[in-house]
Amino acid sequence: MIKDSIAQRMSRLHGETAFAILARANALEAQGRSIVHLELGQPDFKTPQNIIDAACAALNAGYTGYTPTPGYLDLREVIADYVQRQKNVKTDPGEIVVVPGGKPVMFYTITMLVNPGEEVIYPNPSFPIYESCIKFAQGVPVPLQLKKENNFGLDVEALKKLITPKTKLIILNNPSNPTGGVYSREDILALADILRAHPGIFVLSDEIYDRLVFDGSVMSIASIPDLKDRVVILDGFSKTYAMTGWRLGYGVMHPDLAAQMDLYMANTNSCAAAFTQRAAIEALTGPQDGAEAMRLAFKERRDWLVAALNDIPGIDCCLPGGAFYAFPDISSFGLTSNEFASRLLEEAGVAAAGGTSFGAFGEGFIRFSYANSLDNLKEAVRRTEKFVKTLR
Ligand code: PLP
Repeated sequence: MIKDSIAQRMSRLHGETAFAILARANALEAQGRSIVHLELGQPDFKTPQNIIDAACAALNAGYTGYTPTPGYLDLREVIADYVQRQKNVKTDPGEIVVVPGGKPVMFYTITMLVNPGEEVIYPNPSFPIYESCIKFAQGVPVPLQLKKENNFGLDVEALKKLITPKTKLIILNNPSNPTGGVYSREDILALADILRAHPGIFVLSDEIYDRLVFDGSVMSIASIPDLKDRVVILDGFSKTYAMTGWRLGYGVMHPDLAAQMDLYMANTNSCAAAFTQRAAIEALTGPQDGAEAMRLAFKERRDWLVAALNDIPGIDCCLPGGAFYAFPDISSFGLTSNEFASRLLEEAGVAAAGGTSFGAFGEGFIRFSYANSLDNLKEAVRRTEKFVKTLR
Protein backbone atom coordinates (compact mmCIF):
# COMPACT_ATOMS: atom_id res chain seq x y z
CA MET A 1 0.00 0.00 0.00
CA ILE A 2 2.70 2.48 1.02
CA LYS A 3 4.81 1.19 -1.87
CA ASP A 4 2.02 2.04 -4.32
CA SER A 5 2.00 5.62 -3.06
CA ILE A 6 5.63 6.33 -3.91
CA ALA A 7 6.04 8.79 -6.79
CA GLN A 8 6.91 7.16 -10.10
CA ARG A 9 10.12 9.11 -10.52
CA MET A 10 11.65 7.16 -7.64
CA SER A 11 11.53 3.96 -9.70
CA ARG A 12 14.16 5.49 -11.99
CA LEU A 13 16.77 5.77 -9.23
CA HIS A 14 19.04 2.90 -8.28
CA GLY A 15 21.71 2.43 -5.62
CA GLU A 16 25.27 1.17 -5.44
CA THR A 17 25.82 -2.58 -5.41
CA ALA A 18 29.08 -2.15 -3.49
CA PHE A 19 27.03 -1.26 -0.42
CA ALA A 20 24.85 -4.37 -0.89
CA ILE A 21 28.01 -6.50 -1.02
CA LEU A 22 29.25 -4.77 2.14
CA ALA A 23 25.97 -5.64 3.88
CA ARG A 24 26.30 -9.32 2.89
CA ALA A 25 29.98 -9.37 3.92
CA ASN A 26 29.07 -7.83 7.28
CA ALA A 27 26.34 -10.44 7.78
CA LEU A 28 28.87 -13.22 7.14
CA GLU A 29 31.29 -11.60 9.58
CA ALA A 30 28.55 -11.46 12.20
CA GLN A 31 28.30 -15.26 11.79
CA GLY A 32 32.00 -15.53 12.64
CA ARG A 33 33.42 -15.73 9.09
CA SER A 34 36.70 -14.01 8.26
CA ILE A 35 36.22 -11.55 5.38
CA VAL A 36 38.78 -9.44 3.50
CA HIS A 37 37.03 -6.27 2.43
CA LEU A 38 37.91 -5.10 -1.08
CA GLU A 39 34.44 -3.92 -2.07
CA LEU A 40 34.35 -0.25 -1.10
CA GLY A 41 35.92 2.80 -2.71
CA GLN A 42 37.00 4.30 0.55
CA PRO A 43 40.61 5.06 1.58
CA ASP A 44 41.58 2.93 4.59
CA PHE A 45 43.63 5.79 6.02
CA LYS A 46 42.71 8.27 8.69
CA THR A 47 42.18 11.88 7.60
CA PRO A 48 45.52 13.72 8.05
CA GLN A 49 45.79 15.12 11.58
CA ASN A 50 46.21 18.78 10.55
CA ILE A 51 42.76 18.63 8.89
CA ILE A 52 41.14 17.00 11.93
CA ASP A 53 42.73 19.65 14.18
CA ALA A 54 41.41 22.43 11.94
CA ALA A 55 37.88 21.00 12.16
CA CYS A 56 38.06 20.76 15.97
CA ALA A 57 39.40 24.31 16.19
CA ALA A 58 36.58 25.52 13.92
CA LEU A 59 33.94 23.86 16.10
CA ASN A 60 35.47 25.39 19.22
CA ALA A 61 35.61 28.77 17.51
CA GLY A 62 31.87 28.62 16.87
CA TYR A 63 31.64 27.50 13.24
CA THR A 64 28.41 25.67 13.94
CA GLY A 65 25.82 27.61 11.94
CA TYR A 66 24.70 28.01 8.35
CA THR A 67 27.19 29.26 5.80
CA PRO A 68 26.53 31.04 2.49
CA THR A 69 24.70 28.55 0.20
CA PRO A 70 27.60 28.07 -2.25
CA GLY A 71 30.15 27.85 0.60
CA TYR A 72 32.37 30.33 2.45
CA LEU A 73 33.94 32.88 0.13
CA ASP A 74 37.45 32.32 1.52
CA LEU A 75 37.12 28.55 0.93
CA ARG A 76 35.99 29.19 -2.63
CA GLU A 77 38.99 31.48 -3.12
CA VAL A 78 41.28 28.73 -1.87
CA ILE A 79 39.57 26.20 -4.16
CA ALA A 80 39.93 28.58 -7.14
CA ASP A 81 43.64 28.87 -6.43
CA TYR A 82 43.96 25.08 -6.04
CA VAL A 83 42.05 24.39 -9.26
CA GLN A 84 44.40 26.75 -11.10
CA ARG A 85 47.48 24.97 -9.68
CA GLN A 86 46.25 21.37 -9.89
CA LYS A 87 44.18 21.43 -13.07
CA ASN A 88 45.53 24.46 -14.91
CA VAL A 89 42.00 25.91 -15.01
CA LYS A 90 41.61 29.64 -14.47
CA THR A 91 38.57 30.21 -12.29
CA ASP A 92 37.17 32.39 -9.51
CA PRO A 93 34.85 31.95 -6.50
CA GLY A 94 31.77 32.88 -8.57
CA GLU A 95 32.28 29.68 -10.57
CA ILE A 96 32.54 27.41 -7.54
CA VAL A 97 29.79 25.76 -5.50
CA VAL A 98 30.73 23.82 -2.36
CA VAL A 99 28.42 20.88 -1.66
CA PRO A 100 28.27 17.88 0.71
CA GLY A 101 30.47 15.42 -1.24
CA GLY A 102 31.27 14.88 -4.89
CA LYS A 103 28.00 13.05 -5.50
CA PRO A 104 25.70 16.11 -5.28
CA VAL A 105 27.65 17.73 -8.15
CA MET A 106 26.79 14.65 -10.22
CA PHE A 107 23.10 14.67 -9.38
CA TYR A 108 22.73 18.44 -9.69
CA THR A 109 24.65 18.75 -12.96
CA ILE A 110 22.87 15.92 -14.72
CA THR A 111 19.40 16.92 -13.58
CA MET A 112 19.89 20.63 -14.25
CA LEU A 113 21.19 20.12 -17.81
CA VAL A 114 19.38 17.11 -19.21
CA ASN A 115 15.81 17.41 -20.50
CA PRO A 116 13.63 14.32 -21.00
CA GLY A 117 14.68 12.52 -24.18
CA GLU A 118 18.13 14.13 -24.39
CA GLU A 119 21.07 11.77 -24.62
CA VAL A 120 23.99 11.47 -22.24
CA ILE A 121 27.13 9.61 -23.29
CA TYR A 122 28.78 8.07 -20.26
CA PRO A 123 31.60 5.56 -19.77
CA ASN A 124 30.62 1.98 -19.11
CA PRO A 125 31.74 0.37 -16.84
CA SER A 126 31.63 3.40 -14.55
CA PHE A 127 30.35 4.77 -11.27
CA PRO A 128 26.76 3.42 -11.16
CA ILE A 129 25.22 6.69 -10.01
CA TYR A 130 25.80 8.36 -13.42
CA GLU A 131 23.29 6.06 -15.07
CA SER A 132 20.87 6.38 -12.18
CA CYS A 133 20.91 10.20 -12.36
CA ILE A 134 20.51 10.17 -16.16
CA LYS A 135 17.43 7.97 -15.84
CA PHE A 136 16.08 10.10 -13.03
CA ALA A 137 16.32 13.13 -15.34
CA GLN A 138 14.49 11.05 -17.99
CA GLY A 139 17.52 11.38 -20.20
CA VAL A 140 18.66 8.55 -22.44
CA PRO A 141 21.83 6.82 -21.18
CA VAL A 142 24.21 6.11 -24.07
CA PRO A 143 27.04 3.87 -22.83
CA LEU A 144 30.55 4.30 -24.20
CA GLN A 145 32.31 0.98 -23.74
CA LEU A 146 35.68 1.16 -22.00
CA LYS A 147 37.83 -1.71 -23.20
CA LYS A 148 40.63 -3.69 -21.62
CA GLU A 149 42.44 -3.73 -24.99
CA ASN A 150 42.61 0.06 -24.71
CA ASN A 151 43.73 -0.05 -21.05
CA PHE A 152 40.25 1.32 -20.25
CA GLY A 153 41.19 4.67 -21.80
CA LEU A 154 38.92 6.97 -23.76
CA ASP A 155 38.02 5.63 -27.23
CA VAL A 156 37.43 8.96 -28.96
CA GLU A 157 36.48 7.43 -32.32
CA ALA A 158 33.85 5.25 -30.64
CA LEU A 159 32.58 8.27 -28.71
CA LYS A 160 32.27 10.32 -31.89
CA LYS A 161 30.01 7.68 -33.40
CA LEU A 162 27.63 7.91 -30.42
CA ILE A 163 26.97 11.63 -30.87
CA THR A 164 23.55 12.50 -32.32
CA PRO A 165 21.57 15.77 -32.53
CA LYS A 166 20.05 14.76 -29.18
CA THR A 167 23.36 14.49 -27.31
CA LYS A 168 23.37 16.99 -24.44
CA LEU A 169 26.07 15.81 -22.08
CA ILE A 170 29.22 13.70 -22.07
CA ILE A 171 30.49 12.33 -18.76
CA LEU A 172 34.22 11.80 -18.27
CA ASN A 173 35.86 10.20 -15.25
CA ASN A 174 39.61 10.56 -15.21
CA PRO A 175 41.12 8.51 -13.55
CA SER A 176 38.24 6.08 -13.63
CA ASN A 177 36.26 4.06 -11.20
CA PRO A 178 36.06 0.99 -11.46
CA THR A 179 38.92 0.42 -13.90
CA GLY A 180 41.64 2.78 -12.67
CA GLY A 181 42.04 3.75 -16.34
CA VAL A 182 43.47 7.12 -17.29
CA TYR A 183 42.57 9.16 -20.39
CA SER A 184 45.60 10.39 -22.30
CA ARG A 185 46.25 14.02 -23.11
CA GLU A 186 45.98 13.20 -26.83
CA ASP A 187 42.53 11.72 -26.33
CA ILE A 188 41.35 14.76 -24.35
CA LEU A 189 42.62 17.02 -27.15
CA ALA A 190 40.90 14.86 -29.78
CA LEU A 191 37.66 15.04 -27.81
CA ALA A 192 38.06 18.83 -27.65
CA ASP A 193 38.08 18.95 -31.46
CA ILE A 194 34.87 16.95 -31.56
CA LEU A 195 33.23 19.24 -29.01
CA ARG A 196 34.13 22.30 -31.08
CA ALA A 197 32.00 20.85 -33.86
CA HIS A 198 29.09 20.35 -31.44
CA PRO A 199 28.59 23.59 -29.50
CA GLY A 200 25.45 22.38 -27.68
CA ILE A 201 27.17 19.54 -25.83
CA PHE A 202 28.27 19.94 -22.20
CA VAL A 203 30.80 17.85 -20.27
CA LEU A 204 30.67 16.63 -16.69
CA SER A 205 34.31 15.97 -15.84
CA ASP A 206 34.53 13.84 -12.71
CA GLU A 207 38.05 14.46 -11.42
CA ILE A 208 37.60 13.09 -7.90
CA TYR A 209 40.65 10.81 -8.34
CA ASP A 210 42.96 13.27 -10.10
CA ARG A 211 45.47 13.39 -7.23
CA LEU A 212 45.69 9.60 -7.24
CA VAL A 213 47.67 9.19 -10.44
CA PHE A 214 50.75 6.99 -10.42
CA ASP A 215 52.58 7.77 -13.62
CA GLY A 216 52.51 11.44 -14.69
CA SER A 217 49.36 13.53 -14.37
CA VAL A 218 45.94 13.85 -16.00
CA MET A 219 44.64 16.70 -18.12
CA SER A 220 41.36 18.42 -17.27
CA ILE A 221 39.29 19.18 -20.35
CA ALA A 222 38.28 22.42 -18.57
CA SER A 223 41.89 23.61 -18.99
CA ILE A 224 41.14 24.17 -22.69
CA PRO A 225 40.02 27.82 -22.62
CA ASP A 226 37.43 27.78 -25.42
CA LEU A 227 35.68 24.75 -23.89
CA LYS A 228 35.75 25.74 -20.24
CA ASP A 229 32.26 27.32 -20.23
CA ARG A 230 30.72 23.99 -21.22
CA VAL A 231 32.51 21.90 -18.62
CA VAL A 232 31.43 21.22 -15.05
CA ILE A 233 34.30 19.88 -12.94
CA LEU A 234 33.36 17.53 -10.12
CA ASP A 235 35.94 17.26 -7.35
CA GLY A 236 36.09 16.92 -3.61
CA PHE A 237 37.98 15.89 -0.51
CA SER A 238 36.80 12.28 -0.06
CA LYS A 239 39.52 10.40 -1.90
CA THR A 240 42.57 12.72 -1.86
CA TYR A 241 42.39 13.46 1.87
CA ALA A 242 40.59 10.30 3.10
CA MET A 243 37.53 12.37 4.03
CA THR A 244 34.66 10.24 2.70
CA GLY A 245 32.60 10.65 5.89
CA TRP A 246 33.08 14.40 6.06
CA ARG A 247 30.89 14.89 2.99
CA LEU A 248 32.60 17.71 1.20
CA GLY A 249 32.99 18.35 -2.51
CA TYR A 250 32.65 21.11 -5.04
CA GLY A 251 31.77 21.89 -8.61
CA VAL A 252 33.51 24.36 -10.91
CA MET A 253 31.28 25.74 -13.68
CA HIS A 254 30.09 28.79 -15.60
CA PRO A 255 28.40 31.32 -13.26
CA ASP A 256 25.01 30.74 -14.94
CA LEU A 257 25.28 27.06 -14.05
CA ALA A 258 26.64 27.88 -10.59
CA ALA A 259 23.48 29.96 -9.97
CA GLN A 260 21.37 26.88 -10.73
CA MET A 261 23.45 24.68 -8.45
CA ASP A 262 23.12 27.34 -5.75
CA LEU A 263 19.35 27.08 -6.17
CA TYR A 264 19.55 23.32 -5.83
CA MET A 265 21.54 23.76 -2.60
CA ALA A 266 18.97 26.24 -1.28
CA ASN A 267 16.27 23.63 -1.90
CA THR A 268 18.12 20.65 -0.46
CA ASN A 269 21.06 21.12 1.91
CA SER A 270 21.13 24.90 2.53
CA CYS A 271 24.93 24.58 2.71
CA ALA A 272 27.75 22.14 3.41
CA ALA A 273 28.69 21.89 7.11
CA ALA A 274 30.50 24.98 8.41
CA PHE A 275 33.36 23.32 10.33
CA THR A 276 34.17 20.91 7.52
CA GLN A 277 34.48 23.87 5.16
CA ARG A 278 36.98 25.49 7.56
CA ALA A 279 38.93 22.21 7.67
CA ALA A 280 38.90 22.09 3.88
CA ILE A 281 40.88 25.33 3.79
CA GLU A 282 43.55 23.59 5.86
CA ALA A 283 43.37 20.53 3.58
CA LEU A 284 44.17 22.59 0.49
CA THR A 285 46.61 25.12 1.97
CA GLY A 286 48.33 23.03 4.69
CA PRO A 287 51.06 20.39 4.29
CA GLN A 288 50.34 17.83 1.58
CA ASP A 289 52.60 15.07 2.91
CA GLY A 290 49.65 13.07 4.33
CA ALA A 291 47.91 12.99 0.93
CA GLU A 292 51.18 12.19 -0.84
CA ALA A 293 51.99 9.35 1.58
CA MET A 294 48.59 7.80 0.78
CA ARG A 295 49.21 8.11 -2.95
CA LEU A 296 52.56 6.37 -2.62
CA ALA A 297 51.02 3.61 -0.50
CA PHE A 298 48.32 3.08 -3.15
CA LYS A 299 51.00 2.89 -5.83
CA GLU A 300 52.95 0.26 -3.90
CA ARG A 301 49.78 -1.79 -3.42
CA ARG A 302 48.80 -1.43 -7.07
CA ASP A 303 52.18 -2.68 -8.23
CA TRP A 304 52.05 -5.66 -5.89
CA LEU A 305 48.39 -6.54 -6.45
CA VAL A 306 48.37 -6.37 -10.24
CA ALA A 307 51.52 -8.52 -10.50
CA ALA A 308 50.09 -11.05 -8.02
CA LEU A 309 46.74 -11.24 -9.85
CA ASN A 310 48.47 -11.78 -13.17
CA ASP A 311 50.38 -14.69 -11.61
CA ILE A 312 47.08 -16.52 -11.07
CA PRO A 313 46.31 -18.69 -14.14
CA GLY A 314 43.10 -17.49 -15.81
CA ILE A 315 43.20 -13.94 -14.44
CA ASP A 316 44.32 -11.07 -16.65
CA CYS A 317 44.68 -7.59 -15.17
CA CYS A 318 45.98 -4.45 -16.85
CA LEU A 319 47.95 -1.89 -14.89
CA PRO A 320 45.63 0.90 -13.72
CA GLY A 321 47.15 4.38 -14.00
CA GLY A 322 45.19 5.91 -11.13
CA ALA A 323 42.49 5.69 -8.42
CA PHE A 324 42.70 2.64 -6.13
CA TYR A 325 41.02 -0.13 -8.10
CA ALA A 326 42.22 -3.16 -10.03
CA PHE A 327 39.75 -4.50 -12.61
CA PRO A 328 40.91 -7.97 -13.66
CA ASP A 329 39.33 -10.02 -16.43
CA ILE A 330 37.92 -13.22 -14.89
CA SER A 331 35.90 -14.33 -17.93
CA SER A 332 38.03 -17.44 -18.48
CA PHE A 333 36.34 -19.14 -15.51
CA GLY A 334 32.98 -19.25 -17.27
CA LEU A 335 31.02 -17.54 -14.48
CA THR A 336 29.21 -14.23 -14.74
CA SER A 337 30.81 -11.38 -12.82
CA ASN A 338 28.08 -11.53 -10.22
CA GLU A 339 28.37 -15.29 -9.79
CA PHE A 340 32.13 -14.95 -9.42
CA ALA A 341 31.85 -12.11 -6.87
CA SER A 342 29.15 -13.88 -4.91
CA ARG A 343 31.01 -17.21 -4.77
CA LEU A 344 34.31 -15.47 -3.97
CA LEU A 345 32.60 -13.91 -0.97
CA GLU A 346 30.66 -16.96 0.20
CA GLU A 347 33.32 -19.61 -0.46
CA ALA A 348 36.58 -17.71 0.02
CA GLY A 349 35.69 -14.74 2.23
CA VAL A 350 36.85 -12.05 -0.19
CA ALA A 351 34.39 -9.19 -0.73
CA ALA A 352 34.73 -7.57 -4.16
CA ALA A 353 32.32 -5.98 -6.62
CA GLY A 354 31.26 -7.81 -9.80
CA GLY A 355 32.03 -5.84 -12.95
CA THR A 356 28.36 -5.49 -13.89
CA SER A 357 27.82 -3.45 -10.71
CA PHE A 358 29.27 -0.72 -12.93
CA GLY A 359 27.27 -1.37 -16.07
CA ALA A 360 26.70 -4.09 -18.65
CA PHE A 361 30.16 -3.70 -20.21
CA GLY A 362 31.68 -4.72 -16.88
CA GLU A 363 30.66 -8.32 -17.58
CA GLY A 364 33.64 -10.66 -17.30
CA PHE A 365 35.45 -8.44 -14.78
CA ILE A 366 35.65 -7.94 -11.06
CA ARG A 367 36.68 -4.86 -9.10
CA PHE A 368 39.16 -5.16 -6.27
CA SER A 369 39.51 -1.95 -4.28
CA TYR A 370 43.05 -1.84 -2.90
CA ALA A 371 42.05 0.60 -0.20
CA ASN A 372 43.21 -2.04 2.25
CA SER A 373 46.57 -2.98 3.78
CA LEU A 374 49.19 -4.88 1.83
CA ASP A 375 48.83 -7.75 4.33
CA ASN A 376 45.09 -7.96 3.68
CA LEU A 377 45.68 -7.78 -0.07
CA LYS A 378 48.10 -10.69 0.22
CA GLU A 379 45.49 -12.69 2.10
CA ALA A 380 42.85 -11.79 -0.49
CA VAL A 381 45.08 -12.96 -3.34
CA ARG A 382 45.92 -16.18 -1.49
CA ARG A 383 42.21 -16.88 -1.01
CA THR A 384 41.33 -15.91 -4.59
CA GLU A 385 44.01 -18.23 -5.97
CA LYS A 386 42.69 -21.12 -3.91
CA PHE A 387 39.11 -20.32 -4.93
CA VAL A 388 39.77 -20.19 -8.67
CA LYS A 389 41.54 -23.58 -8.52
CA THR A 390 38.17 -25.04 -7.50
CA LEU A 391 36.67 -23.64 -10.70
CA ARG A 392 39.00 -25.51 -13.03
N1 PLP B 1 32.83 10.03 -8.52
C1 PLP B 1 33.38 8.81 -8.51
C2 PLP B 1 33.94 8.27 -9.79
C3 PLP B 1 33.43 8.05 -7.36
O1 PLP B 1 34.00 6.83 -7.37
C4 PLP B 1 32.85 8.57 -6.18
C5 PLP B 1 32.84 7.79 -4.93
O2 PLP B 1 33.13 6.63 -4.87
C6 PLP B 1 32.28 9.84 -6.23
C7 PLP B 1 32.30 10.54 -7.41
C8 PLP B 1 31.59 10.43 -5.04
O3 PLP B 1 32.43 10.95 -4.10
P1 PLP B 1 31.87 11.49 -2.71
O4 PLP B 1 32.01 10.39 -1.71
O5 PLP B 1 32.73 12.67 -2.40
O6 PLP B 1 30.45 11.89 -2.88
